[in-house]
Amino acid sequence: MESTVAQKLEAIYNLQLIDSRLDAIVKVRGALPEEVQDLEDEIAGYETRLEKFKRDIEGFEEDIKRYKENIKDSEKLIKKYQEQQMNVRNNREYDAITKELELQDLEIQVSKKKIAEAGVKIDNKKADLEELSNLMKDRQKDLDLKKEELSTIVSESEAEESKLIAEREKASKKVEERLVKSYTKIRANAKNGLAVVMVKRGACGGCFNTVPPQRQADIREKKKLIVCEHCGRILAGVEDEVEDDSAKAKRRTAKA
Ligand SMILES: [Zn+2]
Repeated sequence: MESTVAQKLEAIYNLQLIDSRLDAIVKVRGALPEEVQDLEDEIAGYETRLEKFKRDIEGFEEDIKRYKENIKDSEKLIKKYQEQQMNVRNNREYDAITKELELQDLEIQVSKKKIAEAGVKIDNKKADLEELSNLMKDRQKDLDLKKEELSTIVSESEAEESKLIAEREKASKKVEERLVKSYTKIRANAKNGLAVVMVKRGACGGCFNTVPPQRQADIREKKKLIVCEHCGRILAGVEDEVEDDSAKAKRRTAKA
C-alpha cells in the first residue's frame, strides 16, 4: 500500500531525529580523542626536551672533568719546571722556565674559570629541567583525566549508540528508498546534519530563512513534499508556537 505524504514525512522526520542523536554522540566523542592525542603529542615533545636537557648537563659535566684533567696536567708540568729551575745553568734558561711556569699558571686560571662557568650552566639547566618535569607532571594528570573521561563517555554512549543504530535500521525501512537517497544527499551537504526540519516561528528550522505564510499553509496540509526555497531541506511540518521549547523537547524525548 502506498503511504500518504503525511506518513512519509513522519517517517523521514523520525529518521532525522535518530540521526541527530547519533550525530550528537559522535560529536561528543569526536572532540575528546583529539584532545587526548594533542596532550600525548605535547608530553612527547616535553620528553624530547627533557632528554636534551639531560644530555646538555652530561656534556657540561664532561667539560668539567676535562678541565680538571687539564689542571692536573698543568700542576705536573709546574712541578717538573720547578725542579728544572733548580738546576739551570744561566739566566736565559731560568727566564725561559719562568715563562713556562707563568703559562701553566694561566692555563690553570682559565680552566678554573671554565669549571665555574660550566657549574652555573649545570645549575641553570637543572632548574629548567625541574620546571619542565613539573609542567610535564601536570599535563600527564590532565591526560589521565581526559583518558578516563573518554573511556567513560565511550562506554556510556556505546550502549545508546547500538540502540540507536538498531532503531535507525527499523526507521529507515519505513521510508522509501528514493526518499532515503535524497535525504542522505541533503544531510551530507548540510553543516548541522539536518535534512528534515520543522518550520519554527515562521522560519526554516535548518537555515532560519522566513517561510512565507502561504507556503506554511501548504506544509500544514501535507499534500506534497515541500522543501525550503533557500536551503533545500525537507520541511516536515509547522510547529505551533503555543508550547515552549522545553515542553516540546520533553515530548520528543518521551516519544523517542
Ligand atoms: Zn532552509
